[in-house]
Amino acid sequence: MRLLATFVAIVVSLMLSDSGWAQVPGIVTGPRPQARVIDETGTLSAADSAEIERLARSIQETTKADMMVVVIPTTAGESHRRFATDLFNRWQLGDGVRNDGLLLFVALADRKSEIILGDGLDSPGQRSASQRIMDQVMVPHFRAGRPGRAILDGATRAVTDIVGVSAEQPAAADVAPVPAATAAELVEKRPEPILEPLLEPSSPATPIPVPTEDVFRPEPIAPAQPWIPPTRFQREPETTSDPVGMMILLGGGAAAGAGGIAVFRSLYRYRRRGCPHCGTAMILLAEGEDDTRLERGERLEEHLGSVDYDIWTCPVCPGVEKVRWGALFTRYAKCPRCRAVTKSHTISRLRAPTRASEGLERIDERCLHCGWEKTSERTIPRLPEPTSSSVDWSSGSSSGGFSSSSGGFSSSTSGGHSSGGGASGSW
Ligand SMILES: [Zn+2]
Ligand SMILES: [Zn+2]
Repeated sequence: MRLLATFVAIVVSLMLSDSGWAQVPGIVTGPRPQARVIDETGTLSAADSAEIERLARSIQETTKADMMVVVIPTTAGESHRRFATDLFNRWQLGDGVRNDGLLLFVALADRKSEIILGDGLDSPGQRSASQRIMDQVMVPHFRAGRPGRAILDGATRAVTDIVGVSAEQPAAADVAPVPAATAAELVEKRPEPILEPLLEPSSPATPIPVPTEDVFRPEPIAPAQPWIPPTRFQREPETTSDPVGMMILLGGGAAAGAGGIAVFRSLYRYRRRGCPHCGTAMILLAEGEDDTRLERGERLEEHLGSVDYDIWTCPVCPGVEKVRWGALFTRYAKCPRCRAVTKSHTISRLRAPTRASEGLERIDERCLHCGWEKTSERTIPRLPEPTSSSVDWSSGSSSGGFSSSSGGFSSSTSGGHSSGGGASGSW
């Protein structure tokens, strides 16, 4: 009897799709899935999905914000704004108190996209940032036939321009802008604001030391001191826990708004560094010049773009500091054997899932540095039962039946809410 029902369901769904009836994918009618990236259209490459997934996890680890990207073909006639807002609230993105969820929603065949902000991320500055991302980043890529790029770049900018702006402080639109000349100057200092080392999940949580005041002070004349051959050479400096730098970065980030984050990060990265031995301002070696100071695995990391190393040398004494900046966007992961961020993976689908049985895929992992390899298999969940396109989307938006069982995101029993702030786009 059950077999017959399944058979009928499949036949009905085939008939529906054959006759061109648009259908909402079952996954968005069910409870929240574990993955942060749901692509029911096959638009995103495996690498793009993995990068967005990693991005979402790393911002969750650092800022607690909860981002999801959902790409489906169609909402089957439902208003896209309402559909996406209801989805946000049914899945309860974000924490129940902070309301720091963010949903980037695309209905590809409908040519519609939505950014839905949790109420805690919905300041006027953040709302206008979301509209900017939609109008200036996503829609142009969609129009140019690059949907994967639209989604990846949209997610990336959402992190820097929306999540990166502190909700407690007035954001871009509400405060006096930083003089353009200053900003330009700082960016030119070294134009690679793509990386975000402060968000690197692997950086150790070191205790915050007592603040020092020399971070942005004009360079003092270094006192002549005898050089003591110490054991501290090549240590990893406490870069990520410098409290003054952090305060300036955070406070300044809010003041300067969206684009300012990159500027202040750059300022922080290339701030004056005193030699740990004699106090003299250290000199940053150019890329390429620093190769001899790096080990083989480190050079490979630089080559792959997963980690960037800055080598600072002292002009007076043999003092050297090696600073590690992990890339936020990289498809490489840390190798369990050699610890270098040089592990890549490929996923091959061995058996497609059906409504009746689970699928199977194989994951081949390999470290490009030490040659470590691992092959594993994992099941792919069965396809959901076909759903009618006349689901009542208005119900269940605030009932919250799917809270803690699905995500494991927060320990609170109820998750975040959105009143529908954000941005819409079509192309
Ligand atoms: Zn020195
Ligand atoms: Zn390795």
